[in-house]
Formats: sequence, structure tokens, C-alpha cells
Amino acid sequence: MKILSVEAFVVSQKLDAPFSFSQWSYDQRSVCLTRVKVEDGTVGWGEGYGPASVVKSGVEMLAPSIIGMNAMEIGRIWQHMYLKTLDFSRSGVLLASISSIDIALWDLKGKLLEQPVHSLLGGKRRDRIQVYATGMYFTEGGNLQQKLADEAQSYVDQGFKRLKMKVGHSLAQDRRNVESVRTAIGDEVGLMVDANHAYDFKEARELGLVLEDQNIAWFEEPLSPEDYAGYRRLRRSLKVPIAAGECEYLVYGFKRLFERECVDIAQPDICGTGGLTEILRITALARSFHIELAPHCWGTGIAFAAGLHFVSTLDSMPGRVFNREPVLEMDRTENPLRDKLIQPVFKPEDGFVQMSDQPGLGIEIDPDLLEEFSTLG
Ligand SMILES: [Mg+2]
Repeated sequence: MKILSVEAFVVSQKLDAPFSFSQWSYDQRSVCLTRVKVEDGTVGWGEGYGPASVVKSGVEMLAPSIIGMNAMEIGRIWQHMYLKTLDFSRSGVLLASISSIDIALWDLKGKLLEQPVHSLLGGKRRDRIQVYATGMYFTEGGNLQQKLADEAQSYVDQGFKRLKMKVGHSLAQDRRNVESVRTAIGDEVGLMVDANHAYDFKEARELGLVLEDQNIAWFEEPLSPEDYAGYRRLRRSLKVPIAAGECEYLVYGFKRLFERECVDIAQPDICGTGGLTEILRITALARSFHIELAPHCWGTGIAFAAGLHFVSTLDSMPGRVFNREPVLEMDRTENPLRDKLIQPVFKPEDGFVQMSDQPGLGIEIDPDLLEEFSTLG
């Protein structure tokens, strides 16, 4: 089945309430979506993680050379795109372009074969996926501690069993924020914190010791993603598990992370690190190091659906009767692209999202909203 077209769309929407984390602020959401069409008219959708206009340029650069290829041969197409960009993009945003096309091809293949993507990936191990709520960013005005505690409680009221909040404001403010959230949600709810590489080693260690007292499930990106030696040192000096990987690309990036003993939990982003094709290789590598995967996921329902299908196929590690289930990130911050453009809008129940057995990724794009959102921002 020949590829007829590969198109990229930048969709954007302004936010009602801007928010920030340790690196920058958001006042709009913007993402590049990719549509691959084959000769019988069937289409597949993908999404890239990273600056949308740059991802779009990458997709448009790659498109002419894959038009005419057999859409069913995803591995062959992936390798072609990889070799076409290797000299310039061993990591970084061009890999988000490849990821976006790769995810669209998996969606397309599922539709052509009338099989869900999880079947193509090897078969789901579970019918519902445990998700955790990502939120609790920094906002202007009012009492931040109280706002974070109230937001955390709202996720617990929605049934979430695990939550992730931002740190990286300042050590003193982080301590107050984490204590406030922990007090609000009690000890039974899992809590993770994410610094987005805001700290140096001494600061991260100081905060890590505070986190140990607050029963934190993981400390995410405490240090710069370039500081492999720092991660190793920090991980050895703290009891709280260390998580990172959203800034790593390809299996080779994760090899560096694992060989240097940097993390307890690896967080590849399917829409950035090389797509579903590459995350299967990263999964095999992580298994060989006995390292748990908890994919990073920040985007529309396409990214989330790809995450669901992937996580449904993960084997529990280590295996036992009372398994520790893998988890998928569920961003709860304001995102009209996620909540309007893609159907279905995923809703958790009791902290889990039900798997779909619809062909492909099981999602649909509203064509009118695609046009409307493509013209904004
Ligand atoms: Mg993060």
C-alpha cells in the first residue's frame, strides 16, 4: 500500500490561564500533527514533541523521499528517515519529526489491518492503564501553596491514585509546596516531583533529603540532562528513586543513561525519542538493565493514545502475583487541543483509562477544528 501524501499541521490555542515551571511559561499550546495517507484513502495520525514549527519543517523535509514507499514496511521507512537525518540529528527535534511520521504509520497500519496498535506491538497485557495526573505548575497571584494543595485534592477527588507536581521554584518554596500538597492528599496517594533540571548537585541533594521525608515516589530531572556523572552521584546518595529521560533520544541516548547508572525509572517520550518503533528498542534495552519505564507524555490525544497502546504491552517488572503496574503520564493542565480536537477525549476512572480495541490508535480528528486551530497562533 503506497504512501500518497505526508502532511504536517501546526495547531495552536491560547490558554485562559498561563502557567509556568522551572524553565519557562506557557500562554498557548501548540503542536505539530502529521497525517499520512495511502493510495486507498486511509489515513494515519502522528504527533511530534517539541517546537511545532520546527517539527513541521522536519516532516516536510522527509516527506518527498517516503512518498511512494510501502506504508506497511514501517521498519524500512524508519531506517530510511534515520539515515537521512543521522549526520545532523543524533538527538533533538528532527527525531520528533521522525516520531510523528512513525506514529502515523503505526496508526495507519492498524487501520489497514483492522487491528489495534497494541496487537501490532505484541499484544496488550492489561485492559486498563494506570495513569497519573500531571499538574500543579506555578501560577501568578494568590497563595501558591494553597492553590497547589487544592489542585492536588481535585485530582484525588477525580480518582487519581498518583500525582506529579513541579518543583524548581526555589528550595524553600519547593519544600513548602511539597509539604502542603502531601498534607492535603494524605499518605496513601502516590506523589512524584519534577524539577525539569532546575538544580545543581548540592541543591538537588538538599531537596532530595526533604523529599525522602515526604514519601515521594520519584524525583524527576533533578539535574541537567547533560550531567550524567551528577545523576550517578545523586542517585547513589539518595533513597528517593531518580527518574529522567524526556530529554534523551533514540536507544543510544538511553544506553548512556543506563550504562552510567543515572536512573531508576526511564521516561522516553514516544513523540520525541523516535516513535513507537524506537521505543520498542528502548524497552528491550531497559529490560536488559532491569530499569522500569514510565513514558513522558505531553500533548494531544494522539500522543496519549500512543502512550496507552505502548504501556498496555509492557510486561510488569519484576514479575509477581501482586504486580506493580506500569504507569502513563496524564497531563491535566489546560489544553484545548487535547480536549477538543481529538476524539475520544480520554477520561480516567478510579485512576485508570480503559484500553480501546478500535483499529489503529482508535482516535479521530475533527476536520473542522483542525482547520480552525491551524489558522490560529
Ligand atoms: Mg518532566
